Amino acid sequence: MAIRRLLWRLFPTYLLLIVICSAATDFFAWRAFRNLYYQRTEQSLRQRAGLIGEDIHSPLDTGRRAEVEAFCREAARLGGCRVTIILPDGAVLAESSQDPEHMYPHSDRPEVHEALAGRTATAVRHSYTLDTDMMYVAVPLEQGGRVIGVLRVAMPMSEIDAATRTVLVQIVVAMLVVVLLAALLALLISRMISRPLELIRAGAQRFARGELDHRLAVPPVEELAAVAQTLNDMAGQLDQKIRTVTSHQMQQAAILASMNEGVIAVDPDGRLLSMNDAAGAPLSIQSASVGQRLLHEVVRNSQLDALVREVLADGGPAEAEISVRAGWDERIVQVHATVLRDPEERSIGALLVFNDVTRLRRLERVRQDFVANVSHELKTPITSIKGFVETLREGAIDEPEEAKRFLEIIASQSDRLNSIIEDLLALSRIEEEAQRKEIPLSPGTLEPVIRDAVALHQARAEAKGVAIEVDAPADLSARVNGPLLEQAIANLLDNAIKYSDTGSAIRIVAARDGENVTVSVQDHGCGIPAEHLPRLFERFYRVDKARSRQLGGTGLGLSIVKHIIAAHGGSVSVTSTPGEGSTFTIHLAGGIPLTNK
Ligand code: ADP
Repeated sequence: MAIRRLLWRLFPTYLLLIVICSAATDFFAWRAFRNLYYQRTEQSLRQRAGLIGEDIHSPLDTGRRAEVEAFCREAARLGGCRVTIILPDGAVLAESSQDPEHMYPHSDRPEVHEALAGRTATAVRHSYTLDTDMMYVAVPLEQGGRVIGVLRVAMPMSEIDAATRTVLVQIVVAMLVVVLLAALLALLISRMISRPLELIRAGAQRFARGELDHRLAVPPVEELAAVAQTLNDMAGQLDQKIRTVTSHQMQQAAILASMNEGVIAVDPDGRLLSMNDAAGAPLSIQSASVGQRLLHEVVRNSQLDALVREVLADGGPAEAEISVRAGWDERIVQVHATVLRDPEERSIGALLVFNDVTRLRRLERVRQDFVANVSHELKTPITSIKGFVETLREGAIDEPEEAKRFLEIIASQSDRLNSIIEDLLALSRIEEEAQRKEIPLSPGTLEPVIRDAVALHQARAEAKGVAIEVDAPADLSARVNGPLLEQAIANLLDNAIKYSDTGSAIRIVAARDGENVTVSVQDHGCGIPAEHLPRLFERFYRVDKARSRQLGGTGLGLSIVKHIIAAHGGSVSVTSTPGEGSTFTIHLAGGIPLTNK
C-alpha cells in the first residue's frame, strides 16, 4: 500500500463516511416522505371518491349518459382528478378525460374487480387508456344493498412524483451543504489528529540526525503525550549514553595517543581494529591510512605475522623481538601480544604492544663493543709489560744494556696504560657531568683559550719542526667552559701535530659565522680517506691503528672532543683530503648538528 500522510488517510475516510451516512439518511428520509405522500394522496383520493360517490346517484338515476358524463367531467375539474364510472359488467359508462365509447371494459382492472365485490380498493399501475402510471381508488356504488357500478377516481403518478421530486431536490441540496460543512469539520479534525503526530515525527527525525538535546512538545492527547514523553526520555538516555561512550572513547584515544608504546588491536581474522600513532613509527606505517585492513598487508613481517597467529591460536600471551626494515634503516621492536577477550571471556582478537628497543639494543652493543675495545686496548700494554717483566726475571736483569731497554719499554707501556685510563676517566667524567648538566658555561673570549692550548703543545711542535699559526680576533667571545674547550682544542692540535710531516704548518682560525662561532684546526698532514670520516669520532676508532699506537694515540682523543663540544651545545665537523691535510671545525653556540663533510 502506498505510503501517504496520515491527513490524507483520515480525511478521505471521514469524507466517505459522511457522504455514505448523509446519502443513506437522505435516501431513507426521502423514501419515507414519498410513502407518506402516497398515503396522503390515496387518502385524499378516497375522500374525493366518497364525496363524488354521494352526488353521483342523482345523475345516475336520470338514466342519461350525457348527464353522468357531464357530472364526471365537472367532478374531475373540481376534484383535480380523473373520474370514471364503470358498470357491473365492466363497461365504462362515463369518463372525465376520455370518450367511454373508445374504452375497453374495465372489469379486469384489479381495483374495479375489488370494488365490484363491494370493497373500496386502491391500485397504482399503468393506465392503458392514458398510457401513464396512475393511482386509482375504486369505490362500489350501491343501491338497495346491490352494487350497481363502480366509481373510480385516479390521479397520474407523474403529478405525485413531481411533488416528491421537488422535495428530493431540496433534500439533496441540504445534503450537499451538510456534506460540505462536515467535510470541512473532518479536515479540521484530521489535521488536529495528524498535526501532533507530524510534530512528533519531525522531532524524531531531529533525534535521528543526532540533535539529542532537542525536546518534543507534549501534545494534550494522552496516548500521543505518552509517545512524546517516551521519545524525550529515550533521547535523554541516548544522549547520556552517547556522551559516556564518546568520553570513554576520547579517554581511550587520549591514553593510546599519549602512550610511548605502540598499541595495535586486531580481530580474530587479523584485521586491524585500532592502533595508535606510536605503533606507526617503529613499523613504518601511517596509522591514519590503514583502515580495516589485514595486519599482514599493512606490515609485511613474517615474525609479527607468526606471533599474531600463535596468540590467536593458543590464547596465551607471547613475546618476541622482531626486526623491521625501512629502507636501509633496521629497527628492533619488542612485541608483547595477548588475546583480547570480551566480558564473556570469548576471544575477540589480539592486542599487540610495541616497544622500539633499537636504541637500547644499539647502546647495549656499543657498551659491549666498548668493553671489548677497552679490554683489548688495555690487554696489549699489559701483555707487553708482563712479557718484559718475565724476561727480566728469567735473567735479562743481569744484562744491564738489555735490562735498561726492557725497562724503558715497560715504562712506555705503563705511560700508554696511564694515557688510556686518563682518557677513559676524562671521557666518562665529561659524559657524566654533561648528562647531569653540571658543566658550567660562561661568556669568555676564545683567544686566550686557544693560546693556552697551543702553549701545551708548542714544545712538541717545535721539536717536530711544525709551525702553529693562530688567527683569532681578540674580542671574539662565546659561552664556554674554558678548561674543557682548551682540552678539546689541545686534542685537535695534538692530532694535527702527530699526523703532520716535519716542516709543515698548522693554522688555528677562530671566527664568527652568523650566530655561531667556529674554531678550526687545519693541518697539511696525511689526511683521512673519506670512508673513515663517518666513524672518526667513535671511541677507539683509528684509521691506522699501528701508526696511532706508535705515536702514543689512545683512539679516544676525538671522542673526548665530540663530548666536550656536545656539552657546549655545539658540534664538530671534519673535512679531509688524503695527502693534503685535514680541517677539524668546532661549531659553538649554534647547535649546528654534527656533519662530517
Ligand atoms: P688517536 O689517539 O689515535 O689520535 P683520535 O680519536 O684522536 O685517536 O683520532 C682517531 C683517529 O683519527 C686517529 O687514529 C687518526 O687515524 C685519525 N686522525 C685524527 N686526527 C687526524 C689528523 N689531523 N690527520 C690525520 N688523521 C687524523
